[in-house]
Parts: sequence; C-alpha cells; structure tokens
Amino acid sequence: MTALVHTRADLAAALDGAGGEIAVVMTMGALHEGHRQLMRTARERSAFVVVTIFVNPLQFGPNEDFEKYPRTLDEDLAICRAEGVALVFAPSRDDVYPHGAPSITMDPGALGSILEGASRPGHFSGMLTVVEKLLLLTRAGVAYFGEKDFQQLALVRRMARDLELPVEIAGVPTVREIDGLALSSRNRFLSPDQRRSALALSRALREGATHTDPGAVLAAAGKILADEPGVLVDYLELTGADLGPVPAEGPARLLVAAKVGATRLIDNVPLTLHKEV
Ligand code: AMP
Repeated sequence: MTALVHTRADLAAALDGAGGEIAVVMTMGALHEGHRQLMRTARERSAFVVVTIFVNPLQFGPNEDFEKYPRTLDEDLAICRAEGVALVFAPSRDDVYPHGAPSITMDPGALGSILEGASRPGHFSGMLTVVEKLLLLTRAGVAYFGEKDFQQLALVRRMARDLELPVEIAGVPTVREIDGLALSSRNRFLSPDQRRSALALSRALREGATHTDPGAVLAAAGKILADEPGVLVDYLELTGADLGPVPAEGPARLLVAAKVGATRLIDNVPLTLHKEV
C-alpha cells in the first residue's frame, strides 16, 4: 500500500514506521518513465521508498513556467502505487516553507554559475535549498537523481559532500523515448511538429558523441542543431565528466539546452575523448 501524506506532521508519523534505510526520489510530479526508473532503482535496494511531489516556487524564475507546470497528482499516485513506493509526500508551499520564503538559502558556488546556472539565475540556489530540506524531512539514507539533469545531480552530490550531509546521492542514467527524445514532464507541451524539431537535441548529442576530438564533437552536434529551424539553442557545451574543464582525453560530457516554441528542453550524454595519433 502506498500512503499519501501532505503535511510534515503526517510525514514524520509515517516515517516512524519505516524501519530500515529510507530512500527518496524527489520530483515535481507529472511522473513519466524516467521517474519510474528512479523508483525502480530505489526499490532494488530499499524496502521503504519515499517519493516527494513538489513544484518548488523557489527554483523558478519570474518569467518561467511555475504556474503552467503540469500538476497530475491522481495519475502520479497510481504510478507510485504500481512501482511499490511506500510513501508519497505531496506538501503545500506552506508545509515546505512554514516561515515564508527562507532568508538563509544554499549558495551553489562556481559550479552553479555555468550552463543552466548562467541561463536561470537563482534556479540552483532554490533547487539546493529545497533538496536539503526534503532530505532532512524524509530522513533519507539514499537519494536518487536522474542524469537527465546532470548539473543538478553534480550540485546535489557536491552539497552532500561539502556540507557533510549523512546521505548517499545516487545517479540514474537518462531514460529516452525509442526515437531518442529524453523523457521530460515538459514534453507534453510540444506539438507534433515541435516534438519532431526537439529530436534534434538528442540526435545532435548522439552524433557529437561519435567523435573523439573536442572541435569535431562540437562541430558535428552544432551542425545538426543549426539545421533545425524549430530549435533555438541556448547553449551547446563540452565539459569534463564532472562539468570541469574539457580533458585532453578520457571521459567528458556534452550538454545542450534549447527552446522549442515556448518549451525549454535540456539533454546531455557521456562521451570519451581521444588524442589524435
Ligand atoms: P523533475 O520532476 O523533472 O524535477 O525530475 C525529478 C527527478 O527525475 C530528477 O532527479 C530528474 O533528473 C529525474 N528525471 C527526469 N527525467 C528523467 C529521465 N528522462 N531519465 C532519468 N531521470 C529523469
């Protein structure tokens, strides 16, 4: 049975009966196969999985889609039940922020100022602040995050490390549609034409990752994006595997963000660079 609680008092009471390690999967709802994969991975290890569903106002900018973000609690609950989740915590804004907007928040540091951080000021501070609160409220021993939001995963890992949070942060590879599109709650906003255009993101990353020289990687991926008029690129960047500088050789990451119509999409892939011989 999956229990649903809305308040922190009911959450605490439900957690008192957990026994054993608690795993958490944090989401903003509108659950899809990507979220399900996080739940399944969590269930493999932990009997007691908590899913949080909270569209966090603190991580949305003034011109972003907070109001418009899909909210589908009944469908989300059915998915959590099907995945054997023990507890769903779907709090109100007041339950997460009982004293109003917090005056002390997380500073994501240098890693939070590149890529998404450059395009979305305040986003990562808001995200880390709610993640820290939800980790404590859910008493999680392990928390699962998708590689789909690769910079988020890297920042949460670093927060746990730098602030000695007693939690393990586990990453889960990106789940895609058969044609390559990374699953996202925002995909439902795409018209059929826009969905076709959006495929250029994963196609560009896949093509880029077939190359091993940084210039060739970016040229190949950039060409595919430039050839798709429905896609307005925000950034296409190659970094080290930990989002640091591009290494001369070895593991790296290729990341893209773009607008398709009014919908902002992000995606990324791992790749390996080699020196020319
Ligand atoms: P969201 O509801 O978009 O905030 O995402 C909640 C969690 O699900 C985050 O850890 C995301 O990285 C993860 N997630 C979202 N989409 C995918 C996907 N396509 N594959 C794997 N994980 C995902």
